[in-house]
Order: sequence, then C-alpha cells, then structure tokens
Amino acid sequence: MKWFLKCFLVFTVVSGVAEAKTCNLEISGNDMMQFDKATLKVNKSKCSKVKLTLKHSGKKSVISMGHNWILVKTDDFSSVMVDAMKAGADKNYVPVDRSKVIAATKLIGGKDKPKSVTSTSVTFSTKKLKKGGDYTYFCGFPAHAMMMKGKFIVE
Ligand code: ZN
Repeated sequence: MKWFLKCFLVFTVVSGVAEAKTCNLEISGNDMMQFDKATLKVNKSKCSKVKLTLKHSGKKSVISMGHNWILVKTDDFSSVMVDAMKAGADKNYVPVDRSKVIAATKLIGGKDKPKSVTSTSVTFSTKKLKKGGDYTYFCGFPAHAMMMKGKFIVE
C-alpha cells in the first residue's frame, strides 16, 4: 500500500509542476514614442506561456507612429533592430528571418485614419527563456527603439 501512496504523491507533484499556465502581460505605446513600462517580468516556474498584449493609447496613425513589440536576447538587439527596419511596414517591421526573434507582435497604430487596430497580442512559450537571462524588448518601427525599449526579466 505504501508504494502505491508514494507513486500517487510523486505523480501529483510532477503533474502540478508540469501544468501549463499562460500568464498575461500588458504594455502600451503612445504618441510620444514611449512604452508605459521600462521592465516586464515573468516567473518561468509559474508561467509556461506568456500572452503579451500591446496597446496603442495614442491617436497618430500606424504610418506615422506605428508600434510593435519584439523580444530578443540583449546581445541580438542591435542586429535585430536593423533587420526589423529593413523588413518594412509590410512585414510589420519584424525581421523576415525569425531565428533571433523570441516573440513579436504585429504593427499597430492609434485611433487616426487609416483606421488601424489599436490592440494586438502574441503568445509564446517560456521554455527557451533562461532564468536571470538578459532580454530586451523594443519597438521595431524605424528610430523608435532608441526610446522604446525595456528589460524583460525572467525569474
Ligand atoms: Zn513604435
């Protein structure tokens, strides 16, 4: 009977840890070329996935003040930023080669015409993220990353 109980307990604990949970994060960009958060945090042990929602709180259109959200290793930031710019608006200013992109949203704009979507989201796995790793998120719209970037903390 004891072995049965042990197996049962081990099974319960393991399945508890492996339970998939999606954690929600939210960030918004404005007409001043700013994100409202300088850091975002995720607890890897508690969140197997992250659903990141990006909102545009401003009025300016997607053409003049578009924003997206791209997550990379900080070491890859400079090169991915250049690739994002090269990709152009048609590709949402997200690099065509996604090998260095951990996650990226579409490009969104404010309320002004041409009426665009003012909110978008992306869901990604935390599996490849390392605890204590150095990650950066930024907006891929040309010249925005200088102001629109932040630290993504994994604990
Ligand atoms: Zn932007």
